[in-house]
Formats: sequence, C-alpha cells, structure tokens
Amino acid sequence: MKRTGDQAFIKEMNRSIVLNLLRFHSPISRTQISVQTGLNKATVSSIIDELIHENLAIEVGRGQTKVGRRPVLLLFNASAGYVIGIDLGVDYVRILATDLSANVVSSQELDMAEPRNVASVVERIANTVTQMREALPPSNLGVIGVGVGVPGLVDYSHGVVLNAPNLSWRDVPFGPLLATRLGLPVYVDNEANTGALGEKLFGMGKEVSHLIYVSVGTGIGTGIIVHNELVRGSQGIAGEFGHMTIESEGLQCSCGNHGCLEMYASERALIHRYQMLTKSKHSSEDILARLQSGEQAAKEAVHTIGTYLGIGLSNLINGLNPSLILIGNRLAQAGDWLLHPIQQTIQTRCFSVPYAPVTIRMSALGRNACAIGAAALVLHEHFAGPQSA
Ligand SMILES: [Zn+2]
Repeated sequence: MKRTGDQAFIKEMNRSIVLNLLRFHSPISRTQISVQTGLNKATVSSIIDELIHENLAIEVGRGQTKVGRRPVLLLFNASAGYVIGIDLGVDYVRILATDLSANVVSSQELDMAEPRNVASVVERIANTVTQMREALPPSNLGVIGVGVGVPGLVDYSHGVVLNAPNLSWRDVPFGPLLATRLGLPVYVDNEANTGALGEKLFGMGKEVSHLIYVSVGTGIGTGIIVHNELVRGSQGIAGEFGHMTIESEGLQCSCGNHGCLEMYASERALIHRYQMLTKSKHSSEDILARLQSGEQAAKEAVHTIGTYLGIGLSNLINGLNPSLILIGNRLAQAGDWLLHPIQQTIQTRCFSVPYAPVTIRMSALGRNACAIGAAALVLHEHFAGPQSA
C-alpha cells in the first residue's frame, strides 16, 4: 500500500513541477521541459497530454531549432478558469475577477463607509462575487477560489481575522463564513502579504528573491519575501512594522501602543498633518489631487509623511537587507513627492552596506496590488505541489 501511495505522490509532484514551469515560462517545448525539470521525455509527454486534455495547456505553432524538426511549443491556458481576488479595505472593498495568470477580467468597488458589521460585509461581498461569477465566460474549471487581503492580523491556516484594529474586528472567522456562503475555497491573509505575493509572482518582484511590500493606506502593513518565500513568523503575524515604535512618547495608536509608525506615516497621518497646516479637514483623495496641482501645503504634508516613512524603512533595511522595496496602496499615488523624502531620509539613516543595493519604487500594480495579490494567493495554493507527510 505504501508503495502505491508513494507512486501517486511522485506522479502528482511531477505534474505540479511541469505545470508550474508551463505557467511561468511558456511558450516552451516538451524537450525544454524535460531538460529543465530532469524528468524523462515519456513522463513529460504523458503529463502534457493530461494537461492538454484538461485545457490547461495548448499547443501553438513550432519553435526554432538548429537541426531537425522544429519542436511544437506549449502555452499555459490562463483562460481555463478564474479566480476572485478581494482587497478588504477600511472604507472600501475592491473585488477583481482574474484569469489563471492573475490578469484582471472584471472589477467592482464597494463603498464601505457604514459600520463594519461582519454579516453585512459577508453578504454584500458574496452577492457581488456571485454576480461577477455569472458574468464570466464559460471555462473548464470555473472559479477555483477566492483570496482576501485584510488590514490586520490573520490566522492564515483557519481564515480567521484575529485583530483588525482599523475595522474593529476581533476573532472573526471571515474565511469560513464567506466559503460557506459561496461554496468555494476562501483564503484570507494580511493585505500586505497578498500585496507582496502579487508583486513577487506577477509584478515588479518576479526576478527578486528579497523584497518588502509596504502598504501605506489607512494604516501601514508590510509583506516580507525572503529567499522567494513569504515570511509569516511563528504564529503567522510577522510584518506588523506599522506598529514599530518610532516616537517613545508619541501619539496613542489603535493597537494600544504609543508612537507607532502608522500614526506618523499613513494616509490617516497625512490627513492629520494637512489639517494642522491648513486648519481644514480634507480626504486623502482631495489632498493628493491638491498635490498634483502643486499646492504648497499638500507638498509639505506629503514630505513630512515621506520623511517618517523613510525612518521606518531605514529600520527595515538595516534589519532585513532587502534588494527591493515597493510602496503600495493609496499613498503610492503621491509618486515622487513621497519617494524623494523617503530616499533622502534613508540615505542619512541607513548603514551604507545594506542601503547600497536597495531599490525603492511605487508598486506597479497600483490600487489593484492587494486584490491581485489575493488572487495570486489562490493560484499559489491551487497550483502548489502535494505536501509530503
Ligand atoms: Zn500601533
């Protein structure tokens, strides 16, 4: 019996290796797959036949070769199924339907300004996902799962939001609630983790092994990739650098601590800073629009936020030595106005060695980063190989 189990495990592992090579490196020929995986040609051909039958691989024309017959090239068929990626923001919910390569097919944004009652949030999201699902083109696999990025601490293995201070949620089994309502697998993770995964798999981080994604929205979260893997920590809550103390006697934060980075460098901090300068309260969208039109107070407020972000990032660079830092979420729209003070601060505060190789950029996935990352999370889980006991 054991032997049969081993054979089934190896077969599934080989299929996963071939399928993942095809996902990220097609067009590719059967021979190239055999060379790159070390699997013999007969095994590769049998797996490819299976994938073609399931509509996950398609043959497209012939490639180039110096001698003999040109090999048939294979493509991963990203339209064989769909994924739903959700960015559960503090005052909005962004829902994307993507294909199996995380390309956005359709999107919806819900305004969540009212109190965040869990049951009503689940209901509104489920209704929207159901409508989006019905409007998708027919496909072999249909929707394979739903990923959700949440601003807070998440027990990833059980889909439970442990503590999301900005939503006032504690111990909310959001994943199981949504899964029951939709009848689909649901994966819930911290929104900065999904952002980091999205950038690593489908964005600017593809070629980078060590990157940090910094989500600067109502609060601040960080998703950390080390050696190509997301760092979750012993309890799955690593990356809460928004709650790193940068002022020992500073402002009280919703987490209960004082002087947290997000009290000085988030969207909420920008609104507060702008109000101090102008004596009038405006939304962050309004402040960012004023920034684009060159208003001095908006420039000054964003500069201060960037300086504080630079202090926080200097600590991260000294501690983790990443090669790429990507700034995402709403404040990424401030572009160079935010990037310049960040870079100036880092230059004066970092050790020269860890600073030297680090590149800091605004996330190219923009406002979709978290939701695309949530879709990437589903794809990552769905296409992962079998877990060895
Ligand atoms: Zn805090």
